[in-house]
Amino acid sequence: MSGTVSGRHAREEPGRAPEASGATPPADEDWAILVAAARTVRDRSYSPYSRYPVGAAARTDSGRIVTGCNVENASFGLTLCAECGVLSQLHATGGGRITALVCVDAADVPILPCGRCRQLLVEHADPETPVLSPEGPITLGELLPHQWKLTEPTQHGRRAR
Ligand SMILES: [Zn+2]
Repeated sequence: MSGTVSGRHAREEPGRAPEASGATPPADEDWAILVAAARTVRDRSYSPYSRYPVGAAARTDSGRIVTGCNVENASFGLTLCAECGVLSQLHATGGGRITALVCVDAADVPILPCGRCRQLLVEHADPETPVLSPEGPITLGELLPHQWKLTEPTQHGRRAR
């Protein structure tokens, strides 16, 4: 599945101006739209082992909403988090940058990305990008300070700064 949630919201918000990447946190009504999109895709989660469905929705710098749900695997280690689906849909629908993100669990509580997904997200969002937590928005930079980034090795095998 892809595109149905973002397409629906795109029609509901004609003429919506793209937000500056990570510049200002979404207004409460924008968070509500993202939470609703995350709930919708959460209900399509494949989570028969944990029975812990998760949906995630992100706003992009072009104003699109991209979504994803967790996809478990019997091996457990190969399970994909909902944020993986968000990033796949981000690039499958035109790329860009994420400007806001929310993940919700089965109880509709905003949950924060796991450590692996924080590292995945930093390549597609700015440190100032807000992520909805149960206490309100916090930034991706607060969630993952001192992010690892690929740099060219130096002649002596140490990474350049
Ligand atoms: Zn994750």
